[in-house]
Amino acid sequence: MNSRTYHIGLLKAIRIPLGAVVLGFCLATGRVLPQTLPLSETLIDLNSTEGETLLIESQARNDYLPLSIHFVTQDNLAYCGVASIVMVLNALSIPAPEASEFGTYRIFTQENFFSNAQTKQVLPAEVVSRQGMTLEQLSQLLESYPVQTKVFHGGDVTLEEFRNLAVKNLQEPDNFVLVNYLRKAIGQESGGHISPLAAYNEQTDRFLILDVSRYKYPPIWIQAEDLWQAMATVDSASGKTRGFVMVSPR
Ligand code: CA
Repeated sequence: MNSRTYHIGLLKAIRIPLGAVVLGFCLATGRVLPQTLPLSETLIDLNSTEGETLLIESQARNDYLPLSIHFVTQDNLAYCGVASIVMVLNALSIPAPEASEFGTYRIFTQENFFSNAQTKQVLPAEVVSRQGMTLEQLSQLLESYPVQTKVFHGGDVTLEEFRNLAVKNLQEPDNFVLVNYLRKAIGQESGGHISPLAAYNEQTDRFLILDVSRYKYPPIWIQAEDLWQAMATVDSASGKTRGFVMVSPR
């Protein structure tokens, strides 16, 4: 007997209608929580008919496949940068250290990413777990592995410059864009966040962000201007505006 058959059998045996069980659960918990938080009307969930259409019609989605293959959820509340870096390093096939949980297999994880002495020197895992990272630290942590980066602060680039740079990258293989933005500025909760860009839809002028806090929000399509404004906000940890980092192999 499988577990479902057993469960249904048990309910029949104790003669409790299924509806009563569900209602009892709702009352016991007070309310039923969705798995992710609701999105503001300005954002489009990738996992919707509209979101899917935007991806199919996108002319700049070269990075979507390699990133989606390596899409991970950040390991803790401050690890958005680490999760984003790990996705990009794996998507670029950068030689990875062994991951102890996978025997002798090699892949970047959010744990073994810090096994490199040079990485720890930039910022140890304990510090990132506590306070996250700034845009400059994101770039330095990436460069502790054989990749090169270019940092752009949101306050230093026009919307047009950002759009041109990001779209060109999304049309090219073997390079990626990580964005650092203020969630509050796009109607999300609430602080600074980092995630990879995966595609651009020209007709709607929207970018696709593969949000690494997958317990909290789905991947979203966001207006280029809204993202640009959210990147032009000041990060109090650095005193500079947030922005984006371009990454390619060294
Ligand atoms: Ca690219």
